[in-house]
Amino acid sequence: MKHPKEEKTFVMVKPDGVRKGLIGEVIKRFEQHDLKIVALEMFQPDFGQIDNHYPKKEEWITRLGEKTKTTYEKYGYDLLEDFGTDDTSKIGPEVRKWLVDYMLSAPLVKMIVQGVHAVDVIRKLAGDTLPYRAAVGTIRGDFSIDSPALANKEKRAVANIIHCSETPEEAEHEIKHWFGDAKIYNYKRFGVDE
Ligand code: ATP
Ligand code: MG
Repeated sequence: MKHPKEEKTFVMVKPDGVRKGLIGEVIKRFEQHDLKIVALEMFQPDFGQIDNHYPKKEEWITRLGEKTKTTYEKYGYDLLEDFGTDDTSKIGPEVRKWLVDYMLSAPLVKMIVQGVHAVDVIRKLAGDTLPYRAAVGTIRGDFSIDSPALANKEKRAVANIIHCSETPEEAEHEIKHWFGDAKIYNYKRFGVDE
């Protein structure tokens, strides 16, 4: 068993977060919560890196299509008019494409964050996936009001400032994918590690 303080998660400041000048704000909030940045880099991803970051499983892609269908039904929009189909297995790949385009639209900042319950604490600080629904006080709730109703109309992905791993397993996979053999640093935070 790993020590609880060794839990790590993967975070990326997405293009809208970088372009809104929120890199410092995001890192500040993590550090405020006694989490430790142990690797950090700005970079321009290429298509393959982003394409491999998002799952390629049909199940996951169809789920993206289903989310879109739910939005359309909720707001009374016409799926057939915008997508030419109401088949979620055909809409899913289209939404995935928007997601890849969005992630390639500016440099990203990737980091590994370490601390007790790092995965869950960062998800809590990030807030709901859909910014218009995210609680005030969370990163997404404080700096965005984007919604699938607007994004789907504009044929783009929901812009929600950061990405963060959903589970420790996903974190491990994403850390390997994005950092490979790069160095992860080890240091003692005042008041946290000593
Ligand atoms: P992330 O994985 O980016 O941290 P998440 O785990 O909260 O976010 P997922 O369900 O994994 O959300 O969706 C991945 C990304 O797809 C979201 O961050 C968002 O940018 C985009 N997205 C999600 N739902 C929709 C939608 N209905 N329409 C357009 N884009 C969406
Ligand atoms: Mg996710």
